[in-house]
Amino acid sequence: MSAKRDYYEILGVSKGVDEKELKKAYRKLAMKYHPDRNPDNKEAEEKFKEINEAYEVLSDPEKRQRYDQFGHDGVNGQFGGGQGFSGGFGGFEDIFGDVFGDIFGGGFGGSRSRRRGPERGADIKQRVSIRFEDAAFGKKIEIKLNRTEECDECHGSGAKNSSGKKTCPTCGGTGQVRSVQRTPFGNIQSTRTCSHCNGEGEIIENPCPKCHGKGHTRKVKTIEVDIPAGIDDGQMIKVSGQGEVGSKGGPRGDLYIVVNIKEHEFFTRDGFDVYFEMPITFPQAALGDEIEVPTLDGKVKYTIPEGTQTGTVFRLREKGIQKLRGHGRGDQFVKVVVDTPRKLNERQKELLRQFAQECGEEVHEKKKSFGQKIENFFKKF
Ligand SMILES: [Zn+2]
Ligand SMILES: [Zn+2]
Repeated sequence: MSAKRDYYEILGVSKGVDEKELKKAYRKLAMKYHPDRNPDNKEAEEKFKEINEAYEVLSDPEKRQRYDQFGHDGVNGQFGGGQGFSGGFGGFEDIFGDVFGDIFGGGFGGSRSRRRGPERGADIKQRVSIRFEDAAFGKKIEIKLNRTEECDECHGSGAKNSSGKKTCPTCGGTGQVRSVQRTPFGNIQSTRTCSHCNGEGEIIENPCPKCHGKGHTRKVKTIEVDIPAGIDDGQMIKVSGQGEVGSKGGPRGDLYIVVNIKEHEFFTRDGFDVYFEMPITFPQAALGDEIEVPTLDGKVKYTIPEGTQTGTVFRLREKGIQKLRGHGRGDQFVKVVVDTPRKLNERQKELLRQFAQECGEEVHEKKKSFGQKIENFFKKF
């Protein structure tokens, strides 16, 4: 310990030096011996540490007084019981920023206080189930959200009253604590979030009894949301500013609504087109008929021609779903399915037998043409 050089001597100043002169002397030396300017120079590194240690003590009026009175022993406690320099840099960072910020590209700037400011609330994702028709035409719906609201007792501060908060004694209100680690390459300074106040910079002495210091409470809130016409199953709607409440006056997060469309009893959809299966009777298919087809707008009349085959698809233009963020509507496709009668009474059966006899040739022709179709189909292979 006795080998330690005098701090005033290290900085090349007299005992009565004032703060300004001290700072000036320190800056000059620190710049000269800075490791960035003296790469791989062990001697410069040692000198740099020595300069910083000296300045750390002499720039602090309390430490300086103890040093003046007791010498190195007076301040050893600050540096880990005589193990040399291992204490905090204290005012060092401030100087460091001032001196080297400009020269070394400002790499050390901007780290003085990382105390947490206002933070945006979290986003909420919520699923809703809506009816097929509501997706087709759009609808204003009500959604119940279980989300955080600012505590109305403490208005978000978390403290019981205005004097319920005080500056964190661990970090002095910066929200960050610095530590210096000694390595063979010199002292490495690091900062981390203060664990005492969680980076808030202040601690709550008397927490708000309603929210227990959190500043927010959970409530069920009903909001109105416009479901746009044309929305499809699985699509998401973003509602800005309806998420969780922010902290310290920060904005709310957003609400994302994932839309689930309930199945319709009769209709299915693909994009903006609607599909529908229309059962017709054999006589209707054979003779043709004017039928009423259900659509999203109600029933519409459609004439099916004589001899309509089962599986025939016809199109009702613009009877589909309103196009999302676009003009016009999709179409409705109607697939005709001939319903084969299941329960026939004796008279109906007899009539059908007569019918078969009567048009037996036609039936035969149909079979024949079907056979030809199959023949043609296999010719391709
Ligand atoms: Zn509260
Ligand atoms: Zn703290």
